[in-house]
Amino acid sequence: MQVSDTHSKQVTTEHPKDTWVLASNNQGKLAEFKRLFAQANLDVTITAQGQLGIEDAVEDGLSFVENAIIKARHASRLSGLPAIADDSGLCVPVLMGAPGIYSARYAGEHGNDAKNNSKLIEDLKPFRDQQADTPIKAMFVCVLAMVRHSDDPLPVIAQGVWQGEILNEPQGDGGFGYDPLFWLPELQATAASLAPADKNKISHRGQAIRQLLQQL
Ligand code: IMP
Repeated sequence: MQVSDTHSKQVTTEHPKDTWVLASNNQGKLAEFKRLFAQANLDVTITAQGQLGIEDAVEDGLSFVENAIIKARHASRLSGLPAIADDSGLCVPVLMGAPGIYSARYAGEHGNDAKNNSKLIEDLKPFRDQQADTPIKAMFVCVLAMVRHSDDPLPVIAQGVWQGEILNEPQGDGGFGYDPLFWLPELQATAASLAPADKNKISHRGQAIRQLLQQL
């Protein structure tokens, strides 16, 4: 099957219809999707868009759900296959939901976790100075969109929200992104201190994937 769009070159696929494209090249996400899809006994193979030569979409939505749909349609248009995309990030209510959809490049440089975390600590200083004993609430959010074809008028949407608090300094060696600052009071640990399997059981992404699977 050959398809094209204005953003990218033509992509040729010879996959059976039960192959779905994951609109991400993140190996961790791919592994997690594959594992949970296998557990759900769905007769579907997940392939990362990079394996089909598909480049990232331009994410110009203003919300997680808009960006997830944009990414899923892009991958589906270029592959001719059903596609799933996720868009995730950290929302801090006292910062009007920032870093939000800009979480990966909050400090200006895509994927620079150390700089993003430093900026978050810095931006929260005025709130800590005002109310030193009040925890700063935050939530990790993950939205998944699945489209059966690129113009699907009814994407399947799933959303996971993981509540926590933001520490004033990093703690824990695991995870990625804002995990070392994301404190879970009920576990007395940061997300960076959890084993990956334990994180997936309760995280925003784990919740969203399980919710998506229930809807399919
Ligand atoms: P993306 O959806 O992979 O583009 O992730 C967006 C950004 O949100 C990441 O680069 C991280 O900064 C942040 N983020 C999303 N999920 C997590 C998580 O589970 N832990 C820590 N940071 C996350």
